[in-house]
Amino acid sequence: MSEEWTERRDRMVTEQLRSRGLTDERILAAFRKIPRHLFVPEAYRREAYEDHPVPIGEGQTISQPYMVALMIAALQLQGHEKVLEVGTGSGFQTALLSELALEVVSVERIAALAGGARERLATLGIGNVRLRVGDGSLGYPEHAPYDGIIVAAGAPDAPAPLLEQLADAGRCVIPIGSQRAQTLVRFQKRHGRLHREDLADCVFVPLIGGHGWRAEELHD
Ligand code: SAH
Repeated sequence: MSEEWTERRDRMVTEQLRSRGLTDERILAAFRKIPRHLFVPEAYRREAYEDHPVPIGEGQTISQPYMVALMIAALQLQGHEKVLEVGTGSGFQTALLSELALEVVSVERIAALAGGARERLATLGIGNVRLRVGDGSLGYPEHAPYDGIIVAAGAPDAPAPLLEQLADAGRCVIPIGSQRAQTLVRFQKRHGRLHREDLADCVFVPLIGGHGWRAEELHD
């Protein structure tokens, strides 16, 4: 079976990532290495390498592989960075980031999901990640500034604390828009000024918190 998973991973990389123009070899190697099927619930394991998001419980989803790769590529990591991730979810993207950056701080608002992610990362022997339960729309000032910030949930606007916690020359990648549809946006800080680029259309679960959507504003 493990060979079959490896084959599926290789196929995912070739057919969903490389063929769509994602060619950063470090990122592709990380996708070939991290066992995505261990990050989805048993019932969905066979869909783990398919070209769509998969439910992970608590009404949340693990993003489509291509979207995860696109977001990580937009961070342009070289390996020496400190990265803040908002929305740990299953921990899959966290595991990829742990391969591609020096250290990762990841914040998840749902304790049950953070607990599952913690177990999986420990099982894989991943040590350069700090997981925290809380409202990541406030960032995580204790370890700021960050060279990269990646938000895996859709926000009505870029949360000010995240942009403040971005290091100079740092990049923040975040879906911004309505609850139904967003634009993936990259902010780059250069000499204290923020430059915005719109990268792609996307659909994410909502970022819920002080600088995201308020729980009472949610609709489905
Ligand atoms: N990257 C994840 C995808 C998670 S989906 C993965 O690979 O599995 C988005 C996650 O963001 C959900 O788990 C949701 O609970 C979380 N989330 C939403 N608002 C948040 C907030 N304000 N702070 C931290 N996490 C948040």
